[in-house]
Amino acid sequence: MTDCLFCRIVGQEIQARIVMENDEIIAFHDLNPQAPVHVLIVPRKHIKSLGEALDDDGNLLGKIQLFARDIAKSLGLTNGFRLVMNNGKGVGQSVDHLHYHLLAGRRMQWPPG
Ligand code: AMP
Ligand code: ZN
Repeated sequence: MTDCLFCRIVGQEIQARIVMENDEIIAFHDLNPQAPVHVLIVPRKHIKSLGEALDDDGNLLGKIQLFARDIAKSLGLTNGFRLVMNNGKGVGQSVDHLHYHLLAGRRMQWPPG
């Protein structure tokens, strides 16, 4: 039993609406979507944040980005998508298990707020 929310989703203790998964990565719809498409892409391995990732995690981090490419393709996001990662509480990371937000389906502001 872990107190990490995303580890509990990985372990199927908590249900999520899964979009795509493989043996290393799981992607599911955000519970509180900030855009018409808002998918979280999460490594099954518990890494607290990008700031605490190891050099050995580099391959996995690259695969997560290519996973985002595959999701965008499968959801037909031809108008573009944004991939966001919050690193640290000071910029809004609320779940301490590394994840990317894949956002699409509306106009995006730049710079992000
Ligand atoms: P962050 O604030 O960058 O750490 O992102 C965490 C995200 O997890 C937020 O966008 C939340 O809406 C989302 N979230 C929290 N609990 C759940 C859950 N049970 N299922 C899916 N998404 C969740
Ligand atoms: Zn975790």
